[in-house]
Amino acid sequence: MPCIFCKIIDKETPSDIIYENDEVIVIKDVNPKAPVHFLIIPKKHIPSVNHIETKDKALIGDLILAAKEIAKEKNLKGYKLLINVGKEGGQIIEHLHVHLLSGRPTE
Ligand code: AMP
Ligand code: ZN
Repeated sequence: MPCIFCKIIDKETPSDIIYENDEVIVIKDVNPKAPVHFLIIPKKHIPSVNHIETKDKALIGDLILAAKEIAKEKNLKGYKLLINVGKEGGQIIEHLHVHLLSGRPTE
């Protein structure tokens, strides 16, 4: 069974897509924790940061560059990028993703 983010990437599950290129998709978080809450997701299924390999280096850069592009496009003055790693780190969905949070002071 493909994971929920793989289904979103394959357009089998609907989502609010903000940005997409060959490597990355960015969607609105369905349960936002801040006024702006996007998820930056690599199209390649990598379960977590713990599963990143050296060959994925460029892809990790693509995630951060996508964050920068979206922040510029949305005129965000400041924002946070967050990656939860593993169940104990608060990761619920086992497909690597970066949270982009903005719009109010966070911890
Ligand atoms: P994490 O705890 O880092 O794994 O974050 C998973 C995030 O995915 C949570 O903030 C959820 O609200 C969000 N989420 C779960 N299902 C969906 C979905 N179908 N579309 C958009 N966001 C989702
Ligand atoms: Zn996946």
